[in-house]
Amino acid sequence: MALSAARAVTFLSQSWAPVLARLSDAVLLLDTADGLVACTIAARALLGGAGDLPGTPARALLGLSPEATLVGELTICPPGSGLVARVELRRTPLFDGEGALAGSLLVILAEATPVRDNDIEGRLRKVALTISSALDIDLLLDRVVRLSAELIGAGAGALPLYDAQFDRLLPGHVVGLDAALIQGPLYRGSGAIWDLIDTGEAFLHNDYATDPRAMRELVRQGVQAVLGVPVVASDEILGVLILYHLEPGRRFGQRDLELLECIGRQAGVALQNARRYEEAMRESRRRQVLYKASVAFGTSLAPEQLYLMIHHTIARLMPCDTIAIALYDEPTDEIEYVYMVDGHGRWPSRRLSLKRGMLGFIVRTGLSLRITGCDPEIEALFGAEPFGEGEDATGSLLALALSVGEQTIGAITVQAVAPDAYTPDDLSALETLAATAAIALQNAHLFARVQELATIDPLTGVSNRRQFFDRARREIERAARYGRPFSLIMLDADHFKQINDHYGHVAGDQVLQAIAARCRADLREVDVIGRYGGEEFLVLLPETAGLQAMAVADRLRDAVGRTPVATDAGPVAVSISIGVAGFAAGSTGTIEELLDQVDKALYRAKAAGRNQARSS
Ligand code: GH3
Ligand code: MG
Ligand code: MG
Repeated sequence: MALSAARAVTFLSQSWAPVLARLSDAVLLLDTADGLVACTIAARALLGGAGDLPGTPARALLGLSPEATLVGELTICPPGSGLVARVELRRTPLFDGEGALAGSLLVILAEATPVRDNDIEGRLRKVALTISSALDIDLLLDRVVRLSAELIGAGAGALPLYDAQFDRLLPGHVVGLDAALIQGPLYRGSGAIWDLIDTGEAFLHNDYATDPRAMRELVRQGVQAVLGVPVVASDEILGVLILYHLEPGRRFGQRDLELLECIGRQAGVALQNARRYEEAMRESRRRQVLYKASVAFGTSLAPEQLYLMIHHTIARLMPCDTIAIALYDEPTDEIEYVYMVDGHGRWPSRRLSLKRGMLGFIVRTGLSLRITGCDPEIEALFGAEPFGEGEDATGSLLALALSVGEQTIGAITVQAVAPDAYTPDDLSALETLAATAAIALQNAHLFARVQELATIDPLTGVSNRRQFFDRARREIERAARYGRPFSLIMLDADHFKQINDHYGHVAGDQVLQAIAARCRADLREVDVIGRYGGEEFLVLLPETAGLQAMAVADRLRDAVGRTPVATDAGPVAVSISIGVAGFAAGSTGTIEELLDQVDKALYRAKAAGRNQARSS
C-alpha cells in the first residue's frame, strides 16, 4: 500500500532529507512518482544547480527520456549542466513505519564503469557545451550533426527538422552525403523516420541496403547502416538526428545509440533555446523598427518621402519583392496606385476603378489578406493583378487596408516571389505599421490640400496672386544674378462685363477657366501663369527677351480668341488684350516696376481697339 502523495512527501522530507544532508554521494530523494523531493550537494553539483526544484521529474533532471528505467548503466546529460556522463543508477525503495511505500533513494554512481574510450566522456562533454552555446539555429544544427558524426565515427549525418503544423520534415543539415538528397520539404510517408516521429523511439538499421523500407537514394550513395534518434524538448519532437555508416561492414552498436540519444536530447533543449532566443530577438527588433518608423513618419509631410519610408521599413521587417500603396479617391470612386515597386523598379502611378483589383477589394471590404502559393487563387479572385508575371510571379502576399479611425484611406500590399513567405506575425507587424502609416499619409494629404488652397486660384487652377509674386520675385532675382533676360505679360479679357451681363456669371466663370487653360496649354513648363484679379492674368517668361515675349503674347491672344468657349449658356467668343514688358539680358529692376510697365502697355492695347498686344 502506498501513502497519499502529500503524506509521503512530508514523511520523506522529515525523516529522509536530514539523512541526505549528511551524505557525500550524489543521491536523489524521489517521491512515488519519481519527482524530486531533495538531493545531496554532490547531486546538485552534478545536475548543474537544477536540483533545487522539488517535484521535477527525475528523468528530466538527468536528461533521460520519460520512459527510461532509473536503474543500471546509463548515459545522462542533465539539461543546462553541459555535462554528459556515463553513470550507474541504484535505486532503494523507502517505506514508512507502517511499511507503506513512500518513495525512493536514487544513488548516482559516476564513473561506475571505465569508459571504453578514455577520451569519450570529455569529448561528449565538449559536444554538449558546444551545442548549448550556439544560439544561431543553422550553426547549431551544423554543429550537432558534425560533432555527433565525429564522436561516433560515422561517415555522414543529417538533421531534418519536423514541422508539426504541416506534418512534414524540412531539410536540415546534411554532412557527408549529397545534400540534394533531401531538397524541399518531405511530407508524411512511411518508414523509420515517421515511426520515430510518432513514437519517439530511436531506430537502428545495420545492413541497411537489405532493409525493404530503405530509401533507394541512400543505398545508392553507399549507406550501410543508419542510426536515428529524436531531437526532443518538452516532450515535443523537433527533429531527427541521423548518422550513417558508409563503409562496408561498419555497424552501430547499442552504446552509439545511447550516446546519440543523449546528444539528441541536448540538441533538443539547445534548439528550443535557440528558437526562443531568435523569436525574442526578432520580436524586439521588430518593435524597434516599428517604433522608429512611427517616429519618422511623424516628421514628414511629403507623400513621396513617406512612401519611401514605408517601403524601407517593411523591407527591414519581412520579405518584400513587390510593394504597392494605393490611395482611395472619394470624388471619383477610384483608387490611385501612388507607389508601386517590384523587381523592375518603380512603376508610374495609375488609377483603377474601386471595383477592380485586389487593393480595391481591400478598400471596399477592409479585410486583411495573407495568401500563400497564390497566383491562380489571386487571379481568380481579383481578375488581373497589377504586376508580377513569369519568374516574378507572386508566391505569397499580404494586403491590408490603410485606415484612420473608421475611414479607409487606401490599401497596401507586400508580395514575395517565394511561397509561404509570410507568417501571421508578419501580418500583424504590417498592421501595426499600416496604422501609423495611414495617419501620416492622411496628414500629408491634408497638408498638401491646405498648401494647394493657399497657393492655387480655386476657379482657374493657376497660381494665385501670392504664389505668383513669390515666384516672380525669385525668378527676377535669378535673372539679375546671372544676367539673363526676363519678361512679364499682363492679359485682360475684353468687354468681360458684357459677357457676364449677356451670358450670366456661370458662363463668365467658364470663360475665365478656358482662358487660363488655353494659355497654360500654350506656355512652356518653366513659364508661370497666375490670376492677378477678376479677369486679369499675369504670365512670367524666364529667359525670354522683348521680341520673343511679343511673339508669345500674340500666340496667347490667338490661342484664347481663335475659337469660342463652349459654356452652359452656349458658345461664347472672347478676346484678350495684352501688355508686355521685360528686362533685357544684363539689365534689372523690381517686379513693381515691371507691373507698372505692363499695366501701361495693356492700357494702350485696350485704347488701340482691344484684341492686341503692346509692349512697354
Ligand atoms: P475691358 O475690355 O475694358 O477690360 O472691359 P471689361 O468689361 O472686361 O472690364 P471691367 O474691368 O469693366 O469689367 C471686368 C468684369 O469682370 C467685371 C467683373 O464683374 C468681372 N469679373 C471679375 N471677376 C470675375 C469672376 O471671377 N467671374 C466672373 N464671371 N466675372 C468676373
Ligand atoms: Mg476686361
Ligand atoms: Mg480688367
